[in-house]
Amino acid sequence: MHPFAYTRVSDVATAVEEVASDPGSEFLAGGTTEVDMLRVGVARPRRVVDINALPISRIEEGDGGVRLGGLARMSDVAAHPVVRERYPVLAQALEKGASPQLRNMATIGGNLMQRVRCAYFRDGGAACNKRVPGSGCAAVGGVNRGHAVLGTSEHCIAAHPSDAAVALTALDAVVRLRGPDGERSVPVDDFFLLPGDTPEREHPVGHGELITAVDVPPVPAARTSVYLKVRDRESYEFALASAAVVLRVEDGMVAEARIGLGGVATKPWRAREAEGALVGAPAEGASYELAAVREMQGAVPRGMNAFKVELAERTVVRALHMAAERQGGAR
Ligand code: SF4
Repeated sequence: MHPFAYTRVSDVATAVEEVASDPGSEFLAGGTTEVDMLRVGVARPRRVVDINALPISRIEEGDGGVRLGGLARMSDVAAHPVVRERYPVLAQALEKGASPQLRNMATIGGNLMQRVRCAYFRDGGAACNKRVPGSGCAAVGGVNRGHAVLGTSEHCIAAHPSDAAVALTALDAVVRLRGPDGERSVPVDDFFLLPGDTPEREHPVGHGELITAVDVPPVPAARTSVYLKVRDRESYEFALASAAVVLRVEDGMVAEARIGLGGVATKPWRAREAEGALVGAPAEGASYELAAVREMQGAVPRGMNAFKVELAERTVVRALHMAAERQGGAR
């Protein structure tokens, strides 16, 4: 392991100052991914600034929504009664992510900041534009069964790994940041960048900016929301395809639809094409299928991951049926 210095801080201002003033410093929260990257030598900071003692782990109700502290643990968010009642899609996504041990350590902020990566990213002998910008992408012509089909570029096709971020995208959450120039908020859909020509840059976040909270706005229809995750095994596995669905049906017609996709895109994917096709359509299977196909029309499969196009369509359709049934508006 590359040697590094370790600092523990107890207030937000000091944490921001410590990292912002040193380009070789990084924040360390739950460490469930970061420590892994340190061990394999992919992350090589000069210093880590441990922020676990910062007072930003509360989960608070307010204005009809909920504020999740940046250091709120995944397991605590999933178990919170307000989250379970108002945003079951988020509780389900969190409970289907990682393992119980990891969920007890991993934080909401860390979950959003985890690297978008594939197996080649961890392999120092493979070309990887994220690890070494400009070195190429071994996955494009290599083993790419788990990779993305939406939002890719020739420079990176890694699928975004988070489940929670998919639910937060469907819920229009807002990420609150504190940096050396003060506070700002970023809508979660803008918080994740497509790889494009610069896959090493994953967020519009400056060095030293810290996630202090994630605000989830009031979404009344989310009380019957659903997160459906399809994977090779039933626990501790990334999604091959997942769908976060908020659906409101009135008089048999779709009045509101919010859909996030995971496992198939380079960022948590807001399925706006599908949403546009659904609103105003009859709440029935034919509408769901048409919407799913429309969303996946822009998919770019690469050899081994071509199956994901149909899998994603089927996942969306099934999740829409589940959400409609929960609301009692199924046909
Ligand atoms: Fe690296 Fe992305 Fe290519 Fe994987 S898909 S090897 S993370 S550039």
